[in-house]
Amino acid sequence: MRIDIATLFVEMCEMVCSESIVGRARRGGYLDLRFHQIRQYTTDKHNRVDDTPYGGGMGMLMQADPIYRCYQAVTSQLPAEKKPYVIYMSPQGHTFTQQKAVELSQKEHLFILCGHYEGVDQRVLDEIVDEEISIGDYVLTGGELGALVVTDAVARLCENVLADEVCFTDESHYSGLLEYPQYTKPAVWHGREVPSVLLSGHHKNIALWQHQKALENTWRKRPDMLRSYPLTQQDKQYLKMLGWEEK
Ligand code: SAM
Repeated sequence: MRIDIATLFVEMCEMVCSESIVGRARRGGYLDLRFHQIRQYTTDKHNRVDDTPYGGGMGMLMQADPIYRCYQAVTSQLPAEKKPYVIYMSPQGHTFTQQKAVELSQKEHLFILCGHYEGVDQRVLDEIVDEEISIGDYVLTGGELGALVVTDAVARLCENVLADEVCFTDESHYSGLLEYPQYTKPAVWHGREVPSVLLSGHHKNIALWQHQKALENTWRKRPDMLRSYPLTQQDKQYLKMLGWEEK
């Protein structure tokens, strides 16, 4: 998969995406991440990319043209059917979820625009953007942290980035539940024992325990998620034993 990020802070993005699993996937050739300095696409001799908003108001806005020229530099060599899916990181977008990460991981090519200052001239958004994505109901100074969150969450779902698909299908949010608690060696730590079923080697019992603990975890931490999870009769029975009430 290819992801192009248009930003005023290339080094910040490059640094984060050189580390850990994403960095390894890039070096292994499984992920093609490219960062573009929007300032390089300005025609202003001082490399300015912002100006005051029409109608007044505080702060500065990113101008349409440098962003558009940056986008064109990325897309002009591509055939029309290979146009990237364009995302603008924005507090006004839909909130990013695991489901959205799965959806985006199925695209071949993303182009992510990071805003700064008071935001971006609406006209370039209208011209190139397919979707606005927010990482939460708060306002950041720039889109980079959001773009890096999206890139990380999407990248780990791409082929060959993690060792096995189970690494992400078994995790919180993928199936609609939070993950069950996990333990590693030693078997006893500070007098706390690992649940005996996990040491039993009995795969069916272990799978049942993990599913029940995922239900319990979800009910205790994020009861709202259970409302959209397809609970079986067995699941409901188990949850009722814990005190859950069906509404
Ligand atoms: N004036 C804008 C508004 O009220 O909607 C906010 C601009 S914000 C200070 C600057 C940039 O940060 C935005 O253009 C956007 O790219 C990014 N940004 C801020 N909050 C964000 C969020 N919650 N999710 C994603 N990007 C965000």
